Amino acid sequence: MTDDPLALARETMLKRHLGGRDISDPRVLDAMRRVPREEFVPEAYRDAAYDDRALGIGCGQTISQPYVVAAIAQACCLNGSEHVLDVGTGSGYQAAVLAELAASVVTIERHGELSRHAAATLDRLGYKNILCVVGDGTLGYAPEAPYDAIVAAAATLEIPPALFEQLRDGGRMVLPLGGFDDQVLYAIRKHGAKSQMMPLFPCRFVPLVPEDAEGRMQNEE
Ligand code: SAH
Repeated sequence: MTDDPLALARETMLKRHLGGRDISDPRVLDAMRRVPREEFVPEAYRDAAYDDRALGIGCGQTISQPYVVAAIAQACCLNGSEHVLDVGTGSGYQAAVLAELAASVVTIERHGELSRHAAATLDRLGYKNILCVVGDGTLGYAPEAPYDAIVAAAATLEIPPALFEQLRDGGRMVLPLGGFDDQVLYAIRKHGAKSQMMPLFPCRFVPLVPEDAEGRMQNEE
């Protein structure tokens, strides 16, 4: 037994917020135990790193709530052999959890500053199987496609066609669909040109902000 307050908080997160709800995949629980969330949040939030809530990470963005990160990872049904695309790097925490569960992860973020910060954190923690890319995630990342699983931590009204195209047949996509306050997290299975849609739970993510025709991001900057 440890008396490190962060280690204790991590165990409480695993028991109460994850195991106590519907996170039952032992590989996902192990991954959530291994990834130090305190390394992905600003210094001022270190003590709150294992609270089950989103926290600010700069650029008006947030690191997702641990339960949501675990639920997304679980819905991907990863066995360790997969190549995964993570849209919306943010802090890099979801990418790290996915990298514990899959063979390789490509993570794409529109804010260069967040991407560079996440890449430095992931490097410091020793992750060698994560590629951080700056760009518009609604277009996916074709050079590394196809992907066995694709996840997004930002909401959109419809599945971006490029993401569906870059998903391998039989692969899984987990993303929030909906507007500002009516989003649902979906697990989607690709069957040829068709998809099987499974709603998981209501959620609230930041919007997935696409580039416009001139290459500018809409709404911001
Ligand atoms: N997975 C992150 C959560 C990040 S929040 C984590 O674990 O910390 C969602 C992120 O999506 C934000 O950083 C936001 O900047 C990014 N985002 C929004 N629209 C995007 C787009 N079109 N392409 C890439 N990233 C985008």
